[in-house]
Amino acid sequence: MKPDLFQAPDYYNLDELLTDEHKMVRDAAREWVKREVSPIIEEAAQKAEFPKSIIGGLAEIGAFGPYIPEEYGGAGLDQISYGLIMQEIERGDSGVRSTASVQSSLVMYPIFKYGTEEQKQKYLPKLASGEMMGCFGLTEPDYGSNPGGMVTNFKDKGDHYLLNGAKMWISNAPFADIAIVWAKNEEGRIHGLIVERGMEGFSTPETHNKWSLRASATGELIFDNVKVPKENLMPNKSGLGAPLGCLDSARFGIAWGAIGAAMDCYDTALRYSKERVQFDKPIGGKQLQQKKLAEMITEITKAQLMAWRLGVLRNEGKATSAQISMAKRNNVEMAINIAREARQILGGMGITGEYSIMRHMMNLESVITYEGTHDIHLLITGMDITGMPAF
Ligand SMILES: Cc1cc2nc3c(=O)[nH]c(=O)nc-3n(C[C@H](O)[C@H](O)[C@H](O)COP(=O)(O)OP(=O)(O)OC[C@H]3O[C@@H](n4cnc5c(N)ncnc54)[C@H](O)[C@@H]3O)c2cc1C
Repeated sequence: MKPDLFQAPDYYNLDELLTDEHKMVRDAAREWVKREVSPIIEEAAQKAEFPKSIIGGLAEIGAFGPYIPEEYGGAGLDQISYGLIMQEIERGDSGVRSTASVQSSLVMYPIFKYGTEEQKQKYLPKLASGEMMGCFGLTEPDYGSNPGGMVTNFKDKGDHYLLNGAKMWISNAPFADIAIVWAKNEEGRIHGLIVERGMEGFSTPETHNKWSLRASATGELIFDNVKVPKENLMPNKSGLGAPLGCLDSARFGIAWGAIGAAMDCYDTALRYSKERVQFDKPIGGKQLQQKKLAEMITEITKAQLMAWRLGVLRNEGKATSAQISMAKRNNVEMAINIAREARQILGGMGITGEYSIMRHMMNLESVITYEGTHDIHLLITGMDITGMPAF
């Protein structure tokens, strides 16, 4: 892969909206990605391997639980810092950002919000340091967009719960030490359980042959009469709203992360367009290529404004789930469109691993599907403005 010459576009001087802390956190993540992710990520993606060697570095830049209080090992940062860290990591690769998002928003967040004090003390510091990695099991083979129909269930056996069922498409599953598993009790109410690797009857087979998020490990979670200690149930929230609360946090991170992927594609295409000469002139001097580049920077700027404003609303505790859906949907579509256009600007070179664009493009095909598909987020906006669910 070519050396990482990334220069972040900031067409509307949005840096002026950021605090010194935001910029410090972002710049540290940016430098780390340049140093530790860019040199190895293409090979990891080609080999379809999650590069475990970067776990320690992710922890050091605060990517695991950025907004979890310091007393539990988190970085105690605000939501905009969280967004900026996700942006920088996804600038490197959506698969690496997925690992960080899952650990932060889908594993640490539910333990912090819905768990007991003992669970927080036991798991959060180790998750923040990367000593322990987690995954989040909501999706099932027959229940994707409508997780409320899940069949995974647990029965009260007096001194323990007995868990049965299966989850699929679970990021980090093949190597996770713990899984946050959403399952129904005997009354059909959804609860979150912390399932630990090594519990008898619990297995995590890897999903192979993905063309997307190849540097992220995906797998199934299979529960065959798993005895889960009663103290592993997170007691402080139940019902579908509990996993959906985690998804709000993760989707917010994706809305920022997608900007990172888009910025990388734009920056690469802009540089290439100035260097690549055809018909005696750099292709960047041709109107057709300028149209693509001008539209890219316009869309990136709009997405940056949306993410920043959403961050302010999240910091004030005022962002609605529907507002988060809109940003996730808009920004991921923006990024995937930019990846496709940027790839064309690079001509044949755009399909090679010399450049990051094709990898981003393929990764974004997962990002546009997971954490609520593009269609589902549109239906959420539709329901929000009309009051009528059309699912
Ligand atoms: C790489 C990857 C990693 C993932 N990681 C995780 C994870 O860590 N944890 C986890 O729990 N899940 C994870 N997922 C699962 C992901 O969240 C689901 O794939 C997603 O929610 C969609 O579910 P589905 O694939 O079953 O598609 P389906 O729900 O079957 O949807 C198929 C199509 O039908 C459309 N559709 C569905 N319902 C409607 C409707 N009412 N109206 C109109 N159209 C509709 C959808 O938009 C989609 O286009 C991951 C997925 C991928 C690909």
